[in-house]
Amino acid sequence: MKRRLTKEEYIAGVLNGNRVILSRAITLIESQLDEDKQLAREVLEAVLPHTGNSVRIGITGVPGVGKSTFIESFGKFLTNQGKKIAVLAVDPSSQISKGSILGDKTRMEELSREPRAYIRPSPAGISLGGVTHKTRETMLLCEAAGFEVIIIETVGVGQSETFVHGMVDFFLLLMLAGAGDELQGIKKGIMEMADLIAITKTDSGNELQARQAKIAYENALHLFPTNSSGWYPQVLTCSALQNKGIDDIWQSIVRHRELLQNNGHFISNRQQQNLAWMHDFIKQTLEERFYQNTQVANQLPLIEQDVVAGQKLPIKAALELLAVFEK
Ligand code: GDP
Repeated sequence: MKRRLTKEEYIAGVLNGNRVILSRAITLIESQLDEDKQLAREVLEAVLPHTGNSVRIGITGVPGVGKSTFIESFGKFLTNQGKKIAVLAVDPSSQISKGSILGDKTRMEELSREPRAYIRPSPAGISLGGVTHKTRETMLLCEAAGFEVIIIETVGVGQSETFVHGMVDFFLLLMLAGAGDELQGIKKGIMEMADLIAITKTDSGNELQARQAKIAYENALHLFPTNSSGWYPQVLTCSALQNKGIDDIWQSIVRHRELLQNNGHFISNRQQQNLAWMHDFIKQTLEERFYQNTQVANQLPLIEQDVVAGQKLPIKAALELLAVFEK
C-alpha cells in the first residue's frame, strides 16, 4: 500500500509539476470514497489560483478517423516548440463495457514517451456526467501543474461531444474524405459546434478527394448561423502520418484565441462554462442523493413495476418518489 499523501504534499507536488503526484492527485479526484472526495476538493481549491492559463482544445471524430495519430503528430509538434501538453480522454464506452474506444495504452506511444507530454485515459466505471466532472477537475490540476495546452479527446458518436465542447476553448472535429457521403457520418449538431474541421489522411493519392470534401464541408458550414464570437469555422486538410497541415491547424487555434481574447468572448465563454459546470454538478449531486436515499431505494422497485404494468403514470410515479425523497 502506498502511503497516503497529505493535502500539503498533493498541493506542492502538483504545483511543482511532479508527474507522479499529479497522477495520484487525479486518482484522488476519481475516487468515490467520501474522505477522498473531501481531500480532492481541498487540493483543487488550493491550486485554483494557478489554473485557467492553458489552451483548452477538444478533439472529436468517429473511431478510425485518425484521432490518436493526429494527437500524436500535433502533440509532438507542440512539444518540439517547448510546450507542455496534457491529453485527457472522455470515453463513454468505458462505462458500458470494460473495453474502451479511446483509452487503451498502445495509443500515442511516441507522444507518451515525451517528457513534456502527459497522457491520461478516461476515468472508468462512472456515468458520463461523472466522467465530465472528473475531466474538468483533471484539466484544472494539469493547468496547475504547468501544462500549457490541454487536449481533451472524445469519440464522435454521442453526447460526450456536448460535454467536451462545454469545457474547452476550441473544438476541433476530425473528418474523413468519404466517397460522397462526407456529411453522413457525424451528427449535424456536432458539426455546428466545430471551430475547425480538419480532413484527415490527406496523403497517398487521397488529395483530390480531400479537396472535394473540404469544399463540401465549407458549403455545409455556411448553412449554419454565424457564430456570435465573430469566428468563422474553417475547414483544413492534414496528414498526421506525414505531419502535413499540422502547423496550419495550430495557427488557426492561435488566431481564434487572439480574436476571442480581443473581443471579450474568450472570458465570457469561460464564465458561462463555469456556471454550466455548477448547475451540472447540482443536478448530478441531487440525482445521486435521490437514488442513494434509503426510502427511495425501498419504494423504487414497486413503483417501477406499476409503471411497467401501466397502472401508474410515469409522472405520478416520479412525483411520489420525489415526495418520499423530500420528506
Ligand atoms: P482513431 O480511432 O480516431 O484514434 O484513429 P487512429 O489514429 O487509430 O487511426 C486509424 C487508422 O488510420 C490507423 O490505421 C492509422 O494508421 C490510419 N491513419 C491515421 N492518420 C493517418 C494519416 O494521416 N494518413 C493515413 N494514410 N493513414 C492514417
